[in-house]
Amino acid sequence: MAEPIVLVEDLVYEYPTKRALHSVSCQIEHGSITALVGPNGAGKTTFLRCLAALDNPFSGQITINGLKTQNHPRDVHRQIGYLSDLFGIYDELTVQRCLYHAAAIHQIPAAQIPDHVAKSAERLGLETRLQETAGTLSRGLRQRLAIAQTIIHDPVLLLLDEPASGLDPEARQSLSELMLSLRDDGMTLLVSSHILAELEDYSSHMLIIDNGHIIEHSMLHTSTSGAQDYDTSPEAVPLRICLACPDERLHQVLSAIPGIEAVEGDFQEVTVLFQGEVGQRHEIIRHLVESCVPVIAFQEQKASLQEAYLQKLKVSRRTVAAHPGGQG
Ligand code: ATP
Repeated sequence: MAEPIVLVEDLVYEYPTKRALHSVSCQIEHGSITALVGPNGAGKTTFLRCLAALDNPFSGQITINGLKTQNHPRDVHRQIGYLSDLFGIYDELTVQRCLYHAAAIHQIPAAQIPDHVAKSAERLGLETRLQETAGTLSRGLRQRLAIAQTIIHDPVLLLLDEPASGLDPEARQSLSELMLSLRDDGMTLLVSSHILAELEDYSSHMLIIDNGHIIEHSMLHTSTSGAQDYDTSPEAVPLRICLACPDERLHQVLSAIPGIEAVEGDFQEVTVLFQGEVGQRHEIIRHLVESCVPVIAFQEQKASLQEAYLQKLKVSRRTVAAHPGGQG
């Protein structure tokens, strides 16, 4: 199996007055786009800064593309692009000068800088703006310029802290497309944001941090309809069933079907929780049809990223309340 691009082992980070990360462990695979989510103050920025080899862990270790951040911070910087939540841009410089400056900071040889600048500007759709002054750009274009600077040295891993904050819906949409195209160019992305609907458009994985602990790290599936689907397995899957007209036998028929754990709803529209393989779902339809129940719709209920996130947070907090001290 391929080495993960990010390996975090028992990472602890402390500010003078606060432990911000408690023994965090996780790994991120090449080519993934991971949504890093969590409430304010959860530890997302601290986590990203540790991964970016900008802050040294109190204990534990981080390996980025085979390099330990504590031992080789400069080499790690060459592998990654990090966009801070409060990034700055030289407003007086043209877009082109900003990109030249970023390339020089990354010690790209002078002869190669024009190529890097052109490629980065093209990736971000800034090629017609090179002579504009950065200070005159709109918020969305400034964000693009900041990302263009971040990828000027062709990093393999991109760490973006709140890249969509302050963007209008159109700019956010175009940022989503950009994330996918950077992934297609071979980059792995870790993106923190509070706007879950936007993360849902492009993320392959979700990492939830709460109070300095990772409470969930899971893959988001793309269903046949193309919609993202939160991986609820091994829990039961909610299925929605609709009838052409009410049928008083509905609950009784459903409850008798193996694998159905709960039935909620009236006599015409219900949600059932089904524990079983996808291939076994046709048994439910077969039972309904054989019982002459007039079924007209049958589909899996997709949990949105937001719903899944809030649900995980609720469960985690309930567990912590029930077992205080269980989390380090
Ligand atoms: P947000 O979503 O609000 O940006 P976050 O998840 O990025 O929050 P962090 O900024 O990583 O959270 O902060 C994690 C915890 O560490 C918070 O409790 C915060 O108050 C604390 N913290 C952050 N920076 C410092 C600092 N310089 N000194 C002391 N405590 C800090």
